[in-house]
Amino acid sequence: MSYINIDEIFDTTSFTIDKEAHIVIDSKFCLACDHRGCECACPARCYTWSEDDQKMDFVYDGCLECGTCYVVCDQNAFTRWRYPRGGFGVSFRMT
Ligand code: SF4
Ligand code: SF4
Repeated sequence: MSYINIDEIFDTTSFTIDKEAHIVIDSKFCLACDHRGCECACPARCYTWSEDDQKMDFVYDGCLECGTCYVVCDQNAFTRWRYPRGGFGVSFRMT
């Protein structure tokens, strides 16, 4: 069995980006969050905590739709969490 390095996964993925975000966070929850687990758990590095701005920056463009952030966030910080609409989001290639 062979494994793929998460940093290599973007070589075999492509994205059709919807103008409407499929995940939206309310970053006021992130300000009080004591672990910010999404930042280290998201394999696509969609979450970045800014110390300067004291806010969580989130970009949905490279989301791999793994669902990890939905599980990791115990603050219910999402004002929207769903998979992208049909025809949008990530496409995985096997080669
Ligand atoms: S785990 Fe949830 S509340 Fe905590 S920083 Fe991430 S999105 Fe915000
Ligand atoms: S679903 Fe996965 S890839 Fe997308 S933002 Fe959440 S943790 Fe990151």
